[in-house]
Amino acid sequence: MKYKITAYSTALFSTWINIEELNLLIDAGDGLTSGLLQKSRKIKNVFITHPDRDHLNGLPQFVQLNSRDGFPKIYYPKDSGSFPAMNNFLKKFDPHVSSSSWIGIEDKSRIEIKKNIEIEAIRNEHIKSPIGIHKSLSYKVFEIKNKLKPEFNSKSSNEIKEVVRKKGKDFITERIESNILSFSGDTPVDDYSKWNGSEILIHESTFLKNEGDSQIESKGNKHSRVDEVLQMVKEIKIGTLILNHFSSRYSKEEIDSNVLKLLKEYKIQVPVFLIYPGELKRDILRTKPINE
Ligand SMILES: [Zn+2]
Repeated sequence: MKYKITAYSTALFSTWINIEELNLLIDAGDGLTSGLLQKSRKIKNVFITHPDRDHLNGLPQFVQLNSRDGFPKIYYPKDSGSFPAMNNFLKKFDPHVSSSSWIGIEDKSRIEIKKNIEIEAIRNEHIKSPIGIHKSLSYKVFEIKNKLKPEFNSKSSNEIKEVVRKKGKDFITERIESNILSFSGDTPVDDYSKWNGSEILIHESTFLKNEGDSQIESKGNKHSRVDEVLQMVKEIKIGTLILNHFSSRYSKEEIDSNVLKLLKEYKIQVPVFLIYPGELKRDILRTKPINE
């Protein structure tokens, strides 16, 4: 399925990603409601990766416009105090937003957002915190299918009905999960295997070059460099790559030429899309990949 993904992402300023068919928003930087307009009303679940202001400052207007009957549900890393503080403030500021739900989650939390669609949170190392303290998360979206177990493929429908009658429906099917989308959030590149098998990987690539190690961190929080991301993509299997969260110090031309050079060097064949600093990109997967 070619999801309708619309996003804005510039390091330091704002990041938000909307996947329309999943009624899903990941991160909520400012400009999200003015970018999505009435489409923001279709969003039911919001997953915030971490409490940096450029990833959550769009929430006040978003919940002000869209709160009703327990929605939107806003999931956040549970050990970040910023979210309860914001929720408390907003309930005083706009009392009608108290019908929104705010839910703290942690590494490995699994949330069903729609029938057969689940999101898993995974700890990342953007914000330094002891193991067991959850302040910065990446998210993986899974589609669940219940498939007939291979040993029943050759059985007739009457035989299958008989087994189901005796042993129940779960006996004949197995659960198959596909990782339809992954979102790194802000993170250094670390464990390659967590993204292996993603149909769509949206990964941050704040920096283009090695400008001294201190540059790869901003305010002590760790980020990725585009060559590290592409080195990883070369080693794993994914379907499509979307790079986001570039620093606004780079021009579009600089980003293009760096990325194209590395794609050639690492012989990366999967379609690659870029979200440029300062640009709202609508329906990304229906635009032209940079390497087409
Ligand atoms: Zn950020």
